[in-house]
Amino acid sequence: MNYIELSPRQAIILDMVKDFGPITGTQIAEKLSLSRAALRSDLAILTMSGLLGARPRVGYFYTGKNPSELVAGIIGNILVGDVQSRPIVIRETCTVYDAIVTMFIEDVGTLIVVSADGFIEGIVSRKDLLKAAMGGKDINSLPVTLAMTRMPNIILATPDESVLRAAQKLINHQVDALPVVEIIKSGTSEKYKVVGRFTKTNITQLFVQLSNN
Ligand code: ADP
Repeated sequence: MNYIELSPRQAIILDMVKDFGPITGTQIAEKLSLSRAALRSDLAILTMSGLLGARPRVGYFYTGKNPSELVAGIIGNILVGDVQSRPIVIRETCTVYDAIVTMFIEDVGTLIVVSADGFIEGIVSRKDLLKAAMGGKDINSLPVTLAMTRMPNIILATPDESVLRAAQKLINHQVDALPVVEIIKSGTSEKYKVVGRFTKTNITQLFVQLSNN
């Protein structure tokens, strides 16, 4: 399967470099009876996509990378901090009712529960709140802390972690979102300051953005 859609001319150039590489841009242009300038954008696309390599005074060569290696190479270099959303947080003193209202107002599926100084306490999903609402208790007085998943059972991401690694965490743990945190060390213990939110939507947006570029 070809993940990178090539124009017919780019496909011909790729085959030519596979057969005759290393080959200079001028030699490719001669073989195709085109000017060097006419080939510039095709060669740029083929090198930027990683299919071809280019060395000064040597020319273009086929990298031999398969499409999945190319995709992993691109996504592996993009960091959570480049694509994360702002965190939608509620205080640990909130009720289940407050959490439901915030979820509607902010139009998100996951809320991060924090202490007064912004450190993570828990995470609460749509189904957590549905379950709490079905329990028959008064949601106006039911603390959200009773509905949330709490630390240390929360799967976290950091801004300098690769999107690929964070995406694998979403899949492995079957969750929709990861709180993005800065790790603050104090003595032997660690605290986690909430700085963002990494979700499946971030991955979808990145996917579309990469294909547009
Ligand atoms: P939903 O429950 O609406 O389908 P999720 O699949 O994200 O949403 O959540 C499933 C369960 O996992 C919920 O109980 C939720 O509290 C918990 N959860 C959500 N995100 C995380 C996370 N990053 N780490 C640990 N548990 C999480």
